[in-house]
Formats: sequence, C-alpha cells, structure tokens
Amino acid sequence: MRYVNSVVDLIGNTPLVKLNAVTEGIEALVLAKVEYVNPGGSVKDRIATRMIEDAEKAGLLKPGGTIVEPTSGNTGVGLAMVAQQKGYKCVFVCPDKVSEDKRNVLKAYGARVEVCPTAVAPEDPRSYYNVSDRLVEEIPGAWKPDQYSNPANPRSHYETTGPELWEQTEGRLTHFVAGIGTGGTISGIGRYLKEQGPVKIVGADPEGSVYSGGTGRPYLVEGVGEDFWPDNYDRQVCDEIVEVSDAASFEMTRRLAREEGLLVGGSCGMAVEAALDVARRANPDDIIVVLLPDGGRGYLSKIFNDDWLTEYGFLSAGTSETTVADVL
Ligand code: PMP
Repeated sequence: MRYVNSVVDLIGNTPLVKLNAVTEGIEALVLAKVEYVNPGGSVKDRIATRMIEDAEKAGLLKPGGTIVEPTSGNTGVGLAMVAQQKGYKCVFVCPDKVSEDKRNVLKAYGARVEVCPTAVAPEDPRSYYNVSDRLVEEIPGAWKPDQYSNPANPRSHYETTGPELWEQTEGRLTHFVAGIGTGGTISGIGRYLKEQGPVKIVGADPEGSVYSGGTGRPYLVEGVGEDFWPDNYDRQVCDEIVEVSDAASFEMTRRLAREEGLLVGGSCGMAVEAALDVARRANPDDIIVVLLPDGGRGYLSKIFNDDWLTEYGFLSAGTSETTVADVL
C-alpha cells in the first residue's frame, strides 16, 4: 500500500511547470514553481509546519494552546491545517480587503476569524497587527507565530524550497523571481541559491509598496507588498525589484488560467509579469524560475469576476497590448 500518515506529510516537493503561451517571443526558458499543489493550497503550508514545530520544541506552544496570527489567509490555512492535526485552536486576524472566500476557508478548518480595516496605519489600534497583539495577551496559552519576524519562515525556504529548485533545475537556473510579502520566500530561497551559484534574485512588488520605493499606499493584489519593512525580509538578497501594477497583475493572472491552464492567485500574475520582464532582457540560454504562491479559487469573486474588475476600472485599463478585455 502507498499512503502518507497525515495530510501534513504532503507539504513541499512541488513541481516546476514550463510556461509556453505567455512567453511567446521570449527565448529564455521560464519555469513556474507551482505551490498551489501543497495540501493547504499555498506555499505557506511550508512555513506553517516549521513555525509550529519550532514553537513546540521551544515550549512556546503547549497541548491545548491557541495560535493567533495576522494573516491574509494562506498562512492561516497552513496553520489551521497543521494545528487541526496537532490539536491546537486558531484565531486569525485579516485585513478587510481579503476575499470572503478566503476567510470562509479558514472557518471551514474550525478557526475563528477577526476582520480589521485595511486603510489604517500599522500603529492604529484597529490595525490587524495591533488587534492580534491584544488577542495574544487576552487568550490564555496563546502563541503568535509572527510570520513577519519568525526565523522559521525564511529557514523553511532555505531548507526545502531552495534545495528543491537547485535539484529540479540541476543547478542551471540563472534567475529566481518571487513576490515579497513577509519576505520569507525570497530571503530563504535567495540566500540558499546564492550560496550555490551566481543566481540573480528578483523581487516582484505591487506599485505603492515599500519594497519598490512606495509609501505603502493601497493596492489590490493580495499577499504581497508591505507598508513597513519586516524583519524576515533580507534587504541584501534582491539584485533587482520589478514594480508591477494591479492592472498588469490581474491581466496576467487571467491569462495564466486561459493560456497555461494554471488557475492561480493575483500575486502569481504579478510575479509572472516580473519574470517575463526579466526574461525579455535575459540571454536565450538563461533559465528563469518564478514561484506561484497560491491557487485562483480564492479569487473567483474578484480577479475572475468581470463586475469586480469593471468596478475598479481594470477592464478598460489594460497596460500592455493584450488588455484584460481581450482575454475574456
Ligand atoms: N503571495 C501570496 C498570495 C501570499 O499570501 C504571500 C504571503 N504573504 C506571498 C505571496 C508572499 O510570500 P512571503 O510572505 O514569503 O514574502
């Protein structure tokens, strides 16, 4: 018989998929690391399992304890799934821009969800960072993983995703491209790859976010970009940051489903847009790997909903030759 002992054992070892259609006219090979095949549906399963294991070892999380975390959804799903298997309770704090679909997934795993306004400063008592701090103080046996500063976040990528990429490409990748949220993905993978060889590390960032020089002004793509500098982002790791608009991110996200059969989230469209920008400037024999953090089902009422796109002006706001309207 062939089976695993728990769903948690299915985390990691995700495939690389060649992008064929959106790369038209580009000679360099562009490969996508497809993280939605993780059992919780995103790259965040990797950090969830490592952060919980570390907290258990350090005695911070004890049997019957409660995990409290500000999360845009994916980290919550990973934590909720691992916590369910290990018998912990979960409370998640989300900004209100996070789709209801995503919040309902957290509730389905048995978690409690607190929603906070997006358009307030991080120091505001209503901000999702502050609400989660207050809950940690109020709930007995509560532990906050804090994906923004927990070293197990980048370390999980240094120890798993980075080595997977090096092995899968036989050490031949020349560029690695990923969006930056907490910075855990790009910092952990970037550090590992740079120790192996001269790999260029490229961050993809929404217009308005601090990583590409913005002030943190609101943008709509979820899970990436910040209005502050998290500890887990290694400022030395990126050789370049490519700024991508919401319109271009959403357009590429829809093309990935239509043209590549990859139903993925908005930060994936953003990362691919940046990867193609890199690929157009690269040598023909370069190998560019772009990480796709999650699947598209959590965005059906937003990115894949024409009314929502129209409401925000994206159907007429195409930024390249192919507008979103063209791919409908
Ligand atoms: N995309 C999505 C959809 C995410 O949820 C996240 C995590 N916030 C990221 C990208 C960015 O990953 P990281 O936090 O490792 O920088």
